[in-house]
Amino acid sequence: MSDPDPLQPLDFSNTEIAFSSKSDKELKKTAWLFSMMNNNSLVQLFSKVGLWAIKLHIPLTKTIIRNTIFHQFCGGETLIDSQKTIELLYEYDVQTILDYGAEGKSTEEDHNAVLAETLKAIEWAASNNSVPIVSTKITGMVDNVVLEKLHAGETLSDGDKRNFQLLQDRLEEICARAFDLNVGIFVDAEESWLQNPIDDLVLEMMVKYNKERVTVFNTYQMYNVNKLEHLKRDHQKCIESGVLFGAKLVRGAYMDKERQRAATLGYPSPIHKTKTETDDAFNHGITYCIQNHSSVVTCCASHNATSNLLQVQLMNDQKMAPNDSHAIFCQLFGMSDNITFNLSNAGFNAAKYVVYGPIKDVIPYLIRRTEENTSVTGEMSRELELLHNEMKRRAIS
Ligand SMILES: Cc1cc2nc3c(=O)[nH]c(=O)nc-3n(C[C@H](O)[C@H](O)[C@H](O)COP(=O)(O)OP(=O)(O)OC[C@H]3O[C@@H](n4cnc5c(N)ncnc54)[C@H](O)[C@@H]3O)c2cc1C
Repeated sequence: MSDPDPLQPLDFSNTEIAFSSKSDKELKKTAWLFSMMNNNSLVQLFSKVGLWAIKLHIPLTKTIIRNTIFHQFCGGETLIDSQKTIELLYEYDVQTILDYGAEGKSTEEDHNAVLAETLKAIEWAASNNSVPIVSTKITGMVDNVVLEKLHAGETLSDGDKRNFQLLQDRLEEICARAFDLNVGIFVDAEESWLQNPIDDLVLEMMVKYNKERVTVFNTYQMYNVNKLEHLKRDHQKCIESGVLFGAKLVRGAYMDKERQRAATLGYPSPIHKTKTETDDAFNHGITYCIQNHSSVVTCCASHNATSNLLQVQLMNDQKMAPNDSHAIFCQLFGMSDNITFNLSNAGFNAAKYVVYGPIKDVIPYLIRRTEENTSVTGEMSRELELLHNEMKRRAIS
């Protein structure tokens, strides 16, 4: 795989553009927060006790979390709360992908609440040019046990069958509403032992709702040794069905959990053995999708500079305009502003995943973000280095 053209005018180290939306005070606060997250012991402590401290109502926990990591990585506790963030991003031509942060829910009441919240987000997106897509997680709408049994090919009890039918109805309602209101739906990818039924359901929705434009996107975790093949397989199925294919590519968020489960249960880990193999698979996937852009809408959902530059270079090779609606770039809110803001500044379709929801519900998401930004070697994180560079440039460090 060739490296992106070094002559590309895009420069992800341009911190002036990256942090143009932040005042000096905000920049210093963000740098302080990332220096706290750089501390591995502090992050480990939060991972262990964060959720319990909230559940046990330990005084000040919620206030501290709200004013620090929640403020950094989430839009707000509700849609209305998130509006200021969405508007600020849009001022810089950065679009928002709304993501209600509930995961691993197990009661029917919770599942219906997630459905209601997702439908609300779709209506909101339909009336806001700044929000083209809403993201959803299947595990927010059904008990994991049902997915696990289906994935393993086990027989479902009558109760499981009913719950699965309810999930199908919920997903259908979401996709139908999104289709009617011209909003996109990203379906997140989850643990590999739940994923086959998710893939089947999403493909069914693509065939139904991607006829004239892409409403439904599936997510492909390229750290999984089978995903390049699945990506091509699903694309071919969409072609055979005469519909467009929506593919959001990620590397994958559950590597340690996947490897641990495989080791405990004694099956081969489904994760590539090295980071280089994952990178190659991701970059092959992006190449395949962009080279087939007439029938694929691709989202490069990554903080990896090389992969984002690769998509830019491939678009160039394919003579696609930067704002071609078949190529999207997306990073998580609160991370990699150097990539998002430099892409939007150069006219590309750049977006942020803006997670919102009650603090107690988004704790697992916040733990993943802090773990991603910590340092086990004592080196400064990528984010912290960029923030320091900008503080130096502004002469405020
Ligand atoms: C907009 C957006 C949406 C996302 N949605 C999802 C989703 O639906 N499902 C999901 O699972 N994740 C999702 N993620 C998270 C994503 O999967 C990655 O965990 C995260 O983005 C880090 O990968 P990267 O491409 O940004 O960059 P990098 O920092 O270059 O890559 C880190 C990733 O590489 C892989 N990796 C690291 N070390 C190794 C190793 N030794 N061997 C093999 N592989 C290795 C892991 O996947 C790790 O997360 C999303 C991310 C973004 C930006």
